[in-house]
Amino acid sequence: MATKTLRTCSKGHQYYKSSDCPTCPLCEEERKPSAGFLSLLGAPARRALENKKISTEKQLSGFTEKEILSLHGMGPGSMPTLRKALEEKGLAFKKP
Ligand SMILES: [Zn+2]
Repeated sequence: MATKTLRTCSKGHQYYKSSDCPTCPLCEEERKPSAGFLSLLGAPARRALENKKISTEKQLSGFTEKEILSLHGMGPGSMPTLRKALEEKGLAFKKP
């Protein structure tokens, strides 16, 4: 039985792998350019949303602007991008 070991990749991601494959799943994800608004964001902001399992405008619209802004890695500079992405889909941030 293979034991899963905790590994840390060069970018500091921690992940468990049972095989000898050195590929970090988080880096793999980052290599694929996400479609839509996520691709317009900087990596820290994108990761903040991904950590919240937000990958679509619809999911984003389930949060208030304040909630999104409070995410680690999210900055005020990303908010206009998000607002615009929501508007284009006829959506908006959740009202507080
Ligand atoms: Zn990684």
